[in-house]
Amino acid sequence: MLAAKTIHELHDLLVKKEIRPQEIVEDVFKRIEAVEDKVKAYLSLTKELALKQAEEAEKKILKGEVSPLTGISLAIKDNICTEGIKTTCASKMLENFVPPYDATVIKALKAEGAVMVGKTNMDEFAMGSSTENSAFQITHNPWDLDRVPGGSSGGSAAAVAADECIAALGSDTGGSIRQPAGFCGVVGVKPTYGCVSRFGLVAFASSLDQIGPLAKDVRDAAILLSAIAGHDPYDSTSAPLEKKDYAQKIGEEIKGIKIGVPKEAFGEGLEEEVKTTLERNIQIFSDLGAEVIEVSLPHLEYAVAVYYIIAPAEASSNLARYDGVKYGFRDKEAGNLIDMYCQTRSKGFGPEVKRRIMLGTYVLSAGYYDAYYKKASQVRTLIKEDFLNAFKQCDFIITPVSPTPAFKIGEKTDDPLQMYLSDIYTIPINLAGVPAISLPGGLSKDRLPIGLQIIGPHFSEVELFKVAYQFEQALGMKEKPEL
Ligand code: GLN
Repeated sequence: MLAAKTIHELHDLLVKKEIRPQEIVEDVFKRIEAVEDKVKAYLSLTKELALKQAEEAEKKILKGEVSPLTGISLAIKDNICTEGIKTTCASKMLENFVPPYDATVIKALKAEGAVMVGKTNMDEFAMGSSTENSAFQITHNPWDLDRVPGGSSGGSAAAVAADECIAALGSDTGGSIRQPAGFCGVVGVKPTYGCVSRFGLVAFASSLDQIGPLAKDVRDAAILLSAIAGHDPYDSTSAPLEKKDYAQKIGEEIKGIKIGVPKEAFGEGLEEEVKTTLERNIQIFSDLGAEVIEVSLPHLEYAVAVYYIIAPAEASSNLARYDGVKYGFRDKEAGNLIDMYCQTRSKGFGPEVKRRIMLGTYVLSAGYYDAYYKKASQVRTLIKEDFLNAFKQCDFIITPVSPTPAFKIGEKTDDPLQMYLSDIYTIPINLAGVPAISLPGGLSKDRLPIGLQIIGPHFSEVELFKVAYQFEQALGMKEKPEL
C-alpha cells in the first residue's frame, strides 16, 4: 500500500519513476474509502484538486524539477487558509468560509509540487485536546475507536496514523500537534515561535500559535518542516531565517550529548505506564551514549494556569472579528444591529469557544488586568527563564507528552479542568517559545501509543531532529493500528 509509506520512501520511488503521483492519490483515497467511516479524520476531501496537482507534479518530475514533497499527498488542518477551499476551523461560524488566499505554508507546499488530499477535523478554533469540540464530528483514534485522537489537530494525527494521507500539517498553541501525535503514535513538531509563518493560520493565541508537521517518522517531519519554515514578510513575528534542510544532521551520532530530565516531570497525575515508558526511554538515551542528568523547571506547576489566562485573553481579542458583518456566519433573524451581533456570536460559537472568550474578556477587563493578565505575563517570563537556565546544564530536555495515553471519548467533556490538565507537559513549551518534538516512546499494555517529548533551545530544530532520529531508530517501534 503506497498510502502506508513515508515521504522519503515515496520520493525515491517517484524519482526512479517507478510510481506516479496519481497512483499515490488513488491509493490514499482507496484507504480513505476503507477506513474514514470509522476514523472521521476529514472535514472535506479534495480528490479532484489532488489529481490535478498530481498531474502537475508528474510534469515537474518528468522535467527533473523534483523537490522532496513533489507528488506527495498531504492533509491540512482546517484552520489553515486554502484558496478556494473551505476553511471552517470546525466552527459553525466559518462553516461556509472559502478563503480568497493561501496561507504562506500552503504557498510553500504548492511551490514544491505537494498534493492536498483534504482538510482535517479539529477542535473548534483549535480550542481543545480531543476534537470533541468540533462543531461537525468527533474523530476517532485509529488505535482504539472508542478513544479520542487528541487535539486540537486530532484529524491530522488520525489521518497520518490511519494512512489516510502521507503526512499532514497541524497547529500548536499549547500542545495541539504534539499531544495528538502522542495519542496516535505519530511524530509531531512544534517549531520555535517565529520559525514558520502564521500568515493564513486562523489566529487563536497569536503569541503561542505555530504551524508544524505531523508525520510517520522523524525524517518525514524534518522534510516537511524544511518546506514550510523560513522568513515571511507577511508575518511580523516571523524570524529572519534562511531556508535550510532540517534533515541535514539525521544519521549523526549523539554520543556525549546531555539530556535533562526535569524532576517536576514526575508530578501528580502521571500514569504508571507513562512513567515506566519514560524510564525505559531514558535508558535508550543512555545506551546511545548520551549523558542523562536531572534538571529543574521550578515554575512548571504554574504553566497551565498561566496559559489559561494568556491564551483566552488573546483569543477573546482575535475572535472579536467574527461579528457577522464582514464574513462568516450571520444570524439573519435579528431585528437590529446589536441583536445581530449577539445572535451571530451566540449561535456561531460552541460552548468551549464561548468559555474562552468569557475567560479572556474577564482577565483583560479594567480592574482585573493587573491581577491576571499582567501577572500571568510575568510568570510566563519565569517559565521561559526556567528553560534557559536548564539549557545551561543540558542540550535537550525530555518529558512525557501527556500524563496518560488517549482517553475515552466523553471521558473528560464534563470536566474542562481535567481536560486542561492533560496539557501540563506541552503548554510550557509554547509559553517559552522553544521547539519540541513528540514521537512514539512505546505502547501501553492495551496497545495505546505513549509519546516522548524532546525539547530543545530556541532554533535548535536541526539538532532536535538528529537526536529524535537516533532515539526512533534505537526504539524501532514497528506496530501500526489495526483498522
Ligand atoms: N489543548 C490546548 C487548548 O485547549 C491547546 C490547544 C492548541 O494547542 N491549539 O487550548
